[in-house]
Amino acid sequence: MMSPKRNLSALTVELIRAEMSENRLPVVIFGASMAGEVIFYRCQELGIRVLAFCDNNIKKTGRDYCGIPVVHTKELIAHFGDVNLLIAVADIEDIIIQVERLNYTHWYPGNIFLKTVNTFHHVYSGPAEYVDYVVKTCIHCQDNYIQPDRLFLRSVDVIITERCSLKCAHCSNLMQYYEHPQNCETTQILESIAILCSVVDEINEFRVIGGEPFMNKEIHIITRALVDESKVHNVVIYTNGTILPKPEQIQGMNDPKVMVLITDYGALSKNLEPLVQSLSAAGIRYFVDNAGGWTDCAKIEKHNRPADDLKALFTECCAKNTFTLSDDKFFRCPFSANLERLGQIPVNSADRIDLALALKSGWDTSFIKKQLRAFINNMKFMSVCDYCNGRSFDAPEIEPARQIRQFLKLDLSNIQTGMPCE
Ligand code: SF4
Ligand code: SF4
Repeated sequence: MMSPKRNLSALTVELIRAEMSENRLPVVIFGASMAGEVIFYRCQELGIRVLAFCDNNIKKTGRDYCGIPVVHTKELIAHFGDVNLLIAVADIEDIIIQVERLNYTHWYPGNIFLKTVNTFHHVYSGPAEYVDYVVKTCIHCQDNYIQPDRLFLRSVDVIITERCSLKCAHCSNLMQYYEHPQNCETTQILESIAILCSVVDEINEFRVIGGEPFMNKEIHIITRALVDESKVHNVVIYTNGTILPKPEQIQGMNDPKVMVLITDYGALSKNLEPLVQSLSAAGIRYFVDNAGGWTDCAKIEKHNRPADDLKALFTECCAKNTFTLSDDKFFRCPFSANLERLGQIPVNSADRIDLALALKSGWDTSFIKKQLRAFINNMKFMSVCDYCNGRSFDAPEIEPARQIRQFLKLDLSNIQTGMPCE
């Protein structure tokens, strides 16, 4: 089996082409999304014939992308046998584990191709600035994979409010369960950001989330603090297009690191147009995305699953690396962060890292770094996963943003404590 860390830094487009010509296997791009599209057209320019895309997300399969079929990863062997795989996914580590389990050895990081592209010289299916952002992120994340000594985080969500201007029945961030939602304490958020940044080597993006982040009137203070952190490369604000920020908030977001990602919920996003206009006028990067791809992942119930089932759920969960900062704690995903915020389940301290407590306990930054690394790399599942249905790519889609009038009451009467955590 190819040893990834040994060979990757020496790879070039020419070497990959030479290996492909020698093994004469079909070429497939792993990841039917924007980075994959850019690699596809780069391959066309280089005379490399790509036969198909493969993807873990079943909703992307069974149809064409860039004029070629998208097959589910599980069906790759049945369709093509052995292949050359160009990986167009930022989180390359998970994909390498997956493809090597499938006994694929001819895989290559797509960043080697992406580095040879000027995205502004092509027309892709997405807006140029967004394509540029996706490509840079993919390059950056894959580059960091070959430097295992660095503590690099692709993305960290920071929760700045529990309040939202919408009330979606299936909000995956569990806003529908907050009876008295509050904004998070700005001082505490800033302290946590500072601690995290003092420990890690680099964070590709901080995603500012809620609820609806513009419900927190101090969003510009938090955004400015993130922008000023030299280890943070991008700050992405996720909004539902219902609120037009005030001029001082727009001013606070005005930085090349900032991008505003607006989800278009149709008539519900009643301020989408004015928001787009004011971001454009201020020269702030933004991207409007359609609401879609929702799955039923917001149910909270105690399942009492055995450890093997929890491991399988966690392994298949596409949210397990959605690292989340909530108050002064670092979590694996927004579900676990918000379930703890809701305060109705027993807390298992192994499910998150308490950054403030670590400092108070006198841990030095190298020890916190070691703990973080173990939390990120060694976890097999969390006890909190037992309250969750997980987020599998195979789950059926549901209607997005169905609105409810009242918050949902949690019924966790069947809780048993003592669930193991790995
Ligand atoms: S808009 Fe809907 S999905 Fe988004 S945070 Fe608010 S309640 Fe959740
Ligand atoms: S299964 Fe676990 S990791 Fe995945 S969303 Fe649920 S709690 Fe988070």
